[in-house]
Amino acid sequence: MTAHSSTHTSAIEVVALTKRYGDGKPAVDNINLRIASGSYCCLLGPSGCGKSTTLRMIAGHESVTSGDVLLENRNITSLPAAERGTAMMFQSFALFPHLSALDNVAFSLKMKGVAKTERHEKAQHLLERVAMGHLLQRKPAELSGGQQQRVALARALITQPRALLLDEPLSALDPFLRIQMRAELRRWQKELGLTFIHVTHSQEEAMALADTMVVMNHGVIEQIGSPHDIYNRPVNEFVARFMGGHNVINTPTGKVGVRTDHIQVVGAGEQVPTGHTAKLATVTDVEYQGTYVLLGLQDPASVHSASSTAEASVMLSENQFSARPFAVGDVVQLAWSPEAAHALMP
Ligand code: ADP
Ligand code: MG
Repeated sequence: MTAHSSTHTSAIEVVALTKRYGDGKPAVDNINLRIASGSYCCLLGPSGCGKSTTLRMIAGHESVTSGDVLLENRNITSLPAAERGTAMMFQSFALFPHLSALDNVAFSLKMKGVAKTERHEKAQHLLERVAMGHLLQRKPAELSGGQQQRVALARALITQPRALLLDEPLSALDPFLRIQMRAELRRWQKELGLTFIHVTHSQEEAMALADTMVVMNHGVIEQIGSPHDIYNRPVNEFVARFMGGHNVINTPTGKVGVRTDHIQVVGAGEQVPTGHTAKLATVTDVEYQGTYVLLGLQDPASVHSASSTAEASVMLSENQFSARPFAVGDVVQLAWSPEAAHALMP
């Protein structure tokens, strides 16, 4: 073990982990990751970037091509899933529809041959822990989405895992329920003090949930950090674009990221604030979003090309916009202070 890992407990450590399915590019390419004990970690990235493969190698549902997985400093790389100390929670909770909440939770103990009284006692205890003690005999169809999620949580916890692994657990839910369920997940994670590793392709979901976000692309990790750090200081163009809310702008000194809400819009002939960088642009879209108005803009030189899409977006508060409304076709100056721009690695 390194000196570092002995001073700070990592629940999960992934070392030079690689997965190759065929002869082509690896699905997961030599990644290194430490997940602090008791934290909520989100693996985030576009479809096909290797999130599920990474999670499945941690869970023991996929063999590794090379590298190691450690749980609390114990090398679990070649252990079967059931002996690792991890548990999975699946999309849409995957409860057995014909079993009561109690029997759903007790199911894995039944498979292990644990006697009925003992497994029911343990299952009841866990359901009580997630405030479901009064609904033990209900079938999944007789429970709300939130209650079903708690049963699924209790079912995952019955093996006393040291880390809970969740692969897109909220993706199949309608948007309203999804937001409700994610708040519940976050609350239970804190309450149980358990390490969660949650895979999602939604940056909004990851931002809402994570203590630590791991942004992946093409089998590699692009950036690891808190939602605040990653949103405010994306390291490269991929992360800036994937997180959204940023403009990637070419300047004479290189490529920079500027948040859509950190850009000022000034009339074409008007004075730009001292020290600001300015760039001419034509307004191509004005979208009212309630609290904000979103302007889409393009380089005036490329406005009339057929394939053109917005090159920049600016988010103005409703008040800013009504004080100085702009319309489609207006030529304006986009201006930002040196502090608002940060360099992006190629
Ligand atoms: P994500 O969960 O980020 O969408 P995956 O980990 O599922 O991505 O997949 C990463 C890459 O590995 C993709 O290119 C996918 O097609 C490929 N892949 C995933 N599972 C298998 C498999 N069982 N056999 C072959 N290729 C796979
Ligand atoms: Mg996946």
